[in-house]
Amino acid sequence: MAYVFNPPAIPSVPVTGSSDSFPVHRIYCVGRNYVDHAIEMGASGREPPFFFMKPADAIVVVDPGQTVSLPYPTVTSNYHHELELVVALGKGGKDVSVDQAMGLVYGYAVGLDMTRRDLQAQAKQQGRPWCISKGFDYSAPIGHITRAADVPHIASASITLEVNGKVRQSSDISKLIWNVAETIAALSQAWELQAGDLIYSGTPAGVAAVVRGDHLLARVDGLSPIALTVV
Ligand code: MN
Repeated sequence: MAYVFNPPAIPSVPVTGSSDSFPVHRIYCVGRNYVDHAIEMGASGREPPFFFMKPADAIVVVDPGQTVSLPYPTVTSNYHHELELVVALGKGGKDVSVDQAMGLVYGYAVGLDMTRRDLQAQAKQQGRPWCISKGFDYSAPIGHITRAADVPHIASASITLEVNGKVRQSSDISKLIWNVAETIAALSQAWELQAGDLIYSGTPAGVAAVVRGDHLLARVDGLSPIALTVV
């Protein structure tokens, strides 16, 4: 059997300290997983977080020391950054317990859940899906993946985003409402997780718009930082 045309390449993310690459299966994202961000989005901060997805080929890989061009998306005039810790799964499972969940983790990366905020607000108002506001092309910048064994203390690490040299988002991974293990356990009740899944774990407060020419520098202590310019 032959394919009727050549299948697209599998999206993948380089692994720090290795010549190998992590093949991406799915991208899951967690909504409202920091209390201060839930409040800035108009919620109380007491509701449970929730999930949405992006296509795997929405990733934009940012190599260390490089500044990558990030295309300003069409059909929006309010393009927001959301700084996030990304969890990369090396094993799958369903109905995974919180106790077993960390056994699925391959590593971690710095990511941005880029958002067409105007379209998201419209979708919320009209009860429509979020795909167009969250799952668009180039909406998931990501740095190289650091293996979990190399960052054992990631559960409390500072997470910071600067835009044009000014701090816009600054928090700590310890402030996640659902920590990494709880997030994996909750996700695995709804989907069968697989090796290659990425989880964008949610953003702290301070989300805001960027425009063409803005320079973003995103960091999580212990991980490869990412630098991008909006073009
Ligand atoms: Mn997000």
